Amino acid sequence: MLQESNTFSPVKTRYEDFSPVFGEAVLDRHRGKLTEMGGFIDVITEARAPIAPVAAAWAITAGRMIRADFDRLVTRIVEGLAAARPEAVLLALHGAQCVEREDDAEGHLLARVRAALGPDVPVVVTLDLHANVTRRMVENAAAIVGYHTYPHIDMFEIGRKAARLGLRIVSGEVKPAMAMRKIPMITNAENMQTTHGPFHRLIERAKALEASGKAEAVSVFGVQPWLDIHEMGNAVVVVTDAKANAAGRHADALAARFWKKREEFRVRLTPVDEAIRQALAVKGGPVVFAESSDSTGSGSPGDSTGVLIPLLDAQLSAKLDEPAAIFLVDPEAVALAVEAGIGATVTMKIGGKFDRRNSKPVETTGHVRLISDGRWTARARGYNTGIETCMGRAVVFEVGRIRILIAERSAMTVDPELFRSHGIEPLYMKIVVVKSPNGFRAAYEPLAKAVFLVDTPGVSTANLSTLPWKRVSRPIYPLDAETRFEA
Ligand SMILES: [Zn+2]
Repeated sequence: MLQESNTFSPVKTRYEDFSPVFGEAVLDRHRGKLTEMGGFIDVITEARAPIAPVAAAWAITAGRMIRADFDRLVTRIVEGLAAARPEAVLLALHGAQCVEREDDAEGHLLARVRAALGPDVPVVVTLDLHANVTRRMVENAAAIVGYHTYPHIDMFEIGRKAARLGLRIVSGEVKPAMAMRKIPMITNAENMQTTHGPFHRLIERAKALEASGKAEAVSVFGVQPWLDIHEMGNAVVVVTDAKANAAGRHADALAARFWKKREEFRVRLTPVDEAIRQALAVKGGPVVFAESSDSTGSGSPGDSTGVLIPLLDAQLSAKLDEPAAIFLVDPEAVALAVEAGIGATVTMKIGGKFDRRNSKPVETTGHVRLISDGRWTARARGYNTGIETCMGRAVVFEVGRIRILIAERSAMTVDPELFRSHGIEPLYMKIVVVKSPNGFRAAYEPLAKAVFLVDTPGVSTANLSTLPWKRVSRPIYPLDAETRFEA
């Protein structure tokens, strides 16, 4: 059960958004794929251990899930687990999923699993690096294993690692002890890459601890920052074999390091007009604009016109006379374009319909170039690699030389395949707009002539102090400069 929530998002998550499958269909979806579950299946098959596939459900980031839909999904999972009578359970979770009246979806699920299976069945959990780890999650799991990469490209390896650990716990070889330390701090996603910089050094430290044999799994979690919930903040989790004191000591040391680096995570955003000016001065393309405030991987609706309007203006004033591409979620616009048909010229208001606080629709006249069923398969290493996703019906709406890929539902924009599957080659664009703070770098940085993190308002903005916080425990850094922490 995998979703990252954004409690500022105006879009509720439904049961169908998870495209859940149960039983054998789980193996069909994930066997041989580079997902956590692909890793689980790989290791268990290798070990010739019996496997009972229960459920696979992944949803794109959005707002809180409708409570009745969540209860339906969790009940199916828990009933499936109880019927399987497992020796051990492997769960691939995100760890920042929120539901109506429940801030900790994964803690809720884990408590239900524990209640159904009793205290002796080990439950090993994988979490996204942006997980919000809670006390209830730690209390109800034998071991937690987090990603070590951002952009996330190690889901398969982390799945394998968790499954190996699960097998060693079942055989009695490892008696896991786990320590978690919560840090009163949230961190911008834009500067949390693991390829270089402050988070890279933390992850290298975690890996070194694992390699030394002193710990089974060491995870550092920079929580996705758009959760207005009480038990919020970064965390470190260390799993050792038996030695609980050592797990606590290592977790303390890593938490202290994380806290010490807090100021290094600041980001510098560029105003859109300035980014366009600089992009036009770059020879060739593509120049990538990351509109992280509307990141579809961070719970934003993907309908911001914060970059689109300046791009259209630049084209109108003849400053921009080269092709550009942008993704937009707008089911009404898709319906109008489909009705008009391929080749039609349509005048319509697009974008700015979900998040009315931060963005407004823009009236455009364009040409319906392509209509599709919105099905495409991620190719780049990352989310759901090799698995088909569906973003509802989609159209390519061309306004001058700006190609706007409009879909009925949200989709990850980190893989160029999103555009390619719809006849838009990013390599031939002057400007490509992605809605992602950092995940796009894995596939786009090798192609990009330049990258700009552009500054627009939105529910996944990097300007955290501008968000309407109400429930998060204060003080917390960087919202409160006076925050203190002692590991
Ligand atoms: Zn993540």
